[in-house]
Amino acid sequence: MITAGEGKKIAIVGAGLSGGVIGRELAEAGHHVEIFDRRPHIAGNCHTERDEQTGVMVHIYGPHIFHTDDAEVWNYVNRFQTFMPYKNRVKTTSNGQVYSLPINLHTINQFFGKSFRPDEARVFLETLADTSIEQPETFEEQALRFVGKDLYEAFFKGYTQKQWGCSPTELPASILKRLPVRFNYDDNYFFHHYQGMPENGYTDMIGHILDHPNITLHLETAFRRTQTDGFAHVFYSGPLDGYYDYQFGRLGYRTLDFERFTYDGDYQGCAVMNYGDESVPFTRITEHKHFSPWENHQGSVCYREFSRECGPQDTPYYPIRLVEEKELLSHYVALAEQEAHVTFVGRLGTYRYLDMDVTIREALDTARLYLFAEKADAAM
Ligand code: FAD
Ligand code: UDP
Repeated sequence: MITAGEGKKIAIVGAGLSGGVIGRELAEAGHHVEIFDRRPHIAGNCHTERDEQTGVMVHIYGPHIFHTDDAEVWNYVNRFQTFMPYKNRVKTTSNGQVYSLPINLHTINQFFGKSFRPDEARVFLETLADTSIEQPETFEEQALRFVGKDLYEAFFKGYTQKQWGCSPTELPASILKRLPVRFNYDDNYFFHHYQGMPENGYTDMIGHILDHPNITLHLETAFRRTQTDGFAHVFYSGPLDGYYDYQFGRLGYRTLDFERFTYDGDYQGCAVMNYGDESVPFTRITEHKHFSPWENHQGSVCYREFSRECGPQDTPYYPIRLVEEKELLSHYVALAEQEAHVTFVGRLGTYRYLDMDVTIREALDTARLYLFAEKADAAM
């Protein structure tokens, strides 16, 4: 371990989970860490803020639920915040009715007006499935193969068209594989063993992660490639194409617009209500107070969520990763691989959709690899 006086000067771009976790690990190892974020707040896209009018904790960049099977990551987040029990139970409105998601026995029975037991529902769904599709490659094939045309059209086709701005026939099957189909009444959106919500929000949690004497934070400070001099290493969690001034073109993202409204009471009775019909222009409504069921607020803050193509001035949310983007990405990755003193990390730095737990796992591994390599160099 390096003592504080011997520590190197490290730059970290982005004060989200990637930057925060790497910064903390290197600060604890004795390095002097400077963290830059162009936004006026920490926590990146996980940022939460209490609404002044209602007192509700709001997930400013969209709903974030913590779920993982990684015990080390779970222990890590619990070091910096008390996690309250929280299970995500999503509903969806389709053709004038409200159903439970992910598709489970209740959804199947309600949709088809049946009272199947698990084995019966499984056999029934198999009769609806398009079994001629042996290896589903597209989103649509995956849906037709496993749930059939009617459930696909009610819950996935319109929603996905709105979310991704293209036909499900153009999207990979992997996007739908995120959602299970259950033949019991379990309506938990996730499978993971550990699930919860930080008691005082994600920003408070990341604030504790950054609270270390070896960390200096610079908010509202954009970092550019020309500023790397003077730092032993740079960990960059901003957009990979942005670092190289978009010289080969821009990697495609979807962005989100949130239409905020308040309500006196309980607007929809759950945290997340999806809208499967294409005729409804938004994908879902989030009612934030239901993310903190241990709190009691009369007023309510809701977000209608609209997805659209990300322009140069917009916040990038979902990497698109179709064939064209993968080709463009390979050019940027080739440049990144030549960097000896810059490591690209996180959702934007690696252009991948990463859940929070995977982001933390990768950040811990990246910091440890760096410290290990440093030790190995020192021993030579
Ligand atoms: P970010 O949070 O994006 O942080 C990057 C930071 O870098 C930003 O603050 C940005 O301002 C800053 N930055 C960029 N460029 C520069 C620059 N040049 N100079 C200075 N600063 C810069 N995960 C879950 O596990 N559960 C969920 O329920 C969930 N819901 C989600 C919902 C939505 C709508 C989205 C988009 C994501 C969701 N995620 C969820 C994923 C989660 O948001 C990510 O795992 C996490 O935010 C990744 O953290 P990061 O630090 O890599 O990136
Ligand atoms: N999806 C859908 N209908 C829904 C919910 C999800 O069609 O009601 C599709 C949509 O294409 C989405 C994908 O399933 O991108 C994965 O869902 P998830 O809830 O994981 O989406 P995310 O967390 O990425 O918003």
